[in-house]
Amino acid sequence: MVFEELSGLKEHYLHCVRCGQCRSVCPVFEEVRNETAAPRSKVFLAHMLSSGELRTGPEAAAHFSRCILCQACTRECPSAVPVHKIILAARFMLARKHPSRIRGTIFREIWTRPALLNLAAGLIRCSQSLGLVKMGLACGLLPPGFSLPGRLPRQPALDSLPEITPAAGKATTRVGYFLGCSTNYLYPEIAGSTVSVLSQLGCEVVLPKSLKCCGLPLLESGELEPVAPMALYNLAAFKRLGVNTVFSDCASCTATLKELQAQQLFSGIEVLDLSGLLLELLDSYNSGMKALNRVATYHDPCHLAGAQGITLSPRQLLRRTGVEFREMKDAGNCCGGGGIFAIYHYDLSMKILNKKIASIEETGADIVATFCPTCVMQLRHGLAKHKGTIEVVHPVQLLAQSLILA
Ligand code: SF4
Ligand code: SF4
Repeated sequence: MVFEELSGLKEHYLHCVRCGQCRSVCPVFEEVRNETAAPRSKVFLAHMLSSGELRTGPEAAAHFSRCILCQACTRECPSAVPVHKIILAARFMLARKHPSRIRGTIFREIWTRPALLNLAAGLIRCSQSLGLVKMGLACGLLPPGFSLPGRLPRQPALDSLPEITPAAGKATTRVGYFLGCSTNYLYPEIAGSTVSVLSQLGCEVVLPKSLKCCGLPLLESGELEPVAPMALYNLAAFKRLGVNTVFSDCASCTATLKELQAQQLFSGIEVLDLSGLLLELLDSYNSGMKALNRVATYHDPCHLAGAQGITLSPRQLLRRTGVEFREMKDAGNCCGGGGIFAIYHYDLSMKILNKKIASIEETGADIVATFCPTCVMQLRHGLAKHKGTIEVVHPVQLLAQSLILA
């Protein structure tokens, strides 16, 4: 359904009774406080777009770009209007009617080809080392959102991890690792912890070297066409290696893979919840674990809590590491990241982020954990701006510290 045409969603958007309940949960509306930013207005505008009453063009594109795709509106709607899917369908339509050379080059040419994506990451790294990115940001040539990823690591995770990592002891299970772009290019240390922890807990970890992106950045940008071939390509890569179950340490990747399954594009393979898998493996783990003497809180990524309904197991996992756990206020509220949203709407994204940072700081925790590398990036950026000392980690990194690794 995520790939549906706007016209195909007509029966859904006609169900909107304009009650406004979606406004009460929309992080964008909360900041903008203008009806044009409300989810119900986007539903109405989508209707107009579909009937031709609203012209396609930059003004319409600007309306639909002001959405983090957090899905809070869809969950809240008493009439079951799939608001975020209507917004996505509007973006597809706008992108198709007004193709952009820059967007096409980035998402169709580069993002679909791992070799070119590697090259682009290398060029960014090089520009960062030469101070060009800093200079571009300072003189306004680059939008402020380009500061979000920070300094790219020297090597992507895929360069250092083997295709097959054997279990440290007797293998009890074999799982495929869907390594997403954020973990690969921004946080290879998270990927390293994921593989080590699973291996220690008795898994043989299979990581196809030829994987492509899950397709989420393309979907968010309205560049729909390459998504299906990429999904089928990734599915074939796992099947070639005899893998029947796949997990990811990125909530956005697993949410997308599940959507692809609903479209019959990633069929015949089970997408596992990593936190649930780790808890199961820990139940039969007989070696020692050391209790971490830290105070931790947890931020729910929209793509895990909202899109997949997974909230309990990540918290249980954190508690298994021995940390003192403190719940933050509004842990399920969006951090304002949402991939490309923070790049296009940096100021708005920062306003949403500030509230999240205040909730984190209120807990008195010295660590905030989250199950999505994009949230890790956003929270690190926010805490650095606040000159905070709170560490942002993925739960697998804490587990790697707690397990006595072989
Ligand atoms: S909550 Fe649902 S029915 Fe109510 S205004 Fe929003 S989209 Fe329409
Ligand atoms: S998906 Fe989130 S940001 Fe977008 S309209 Fe709905 S509540 Fe607002």
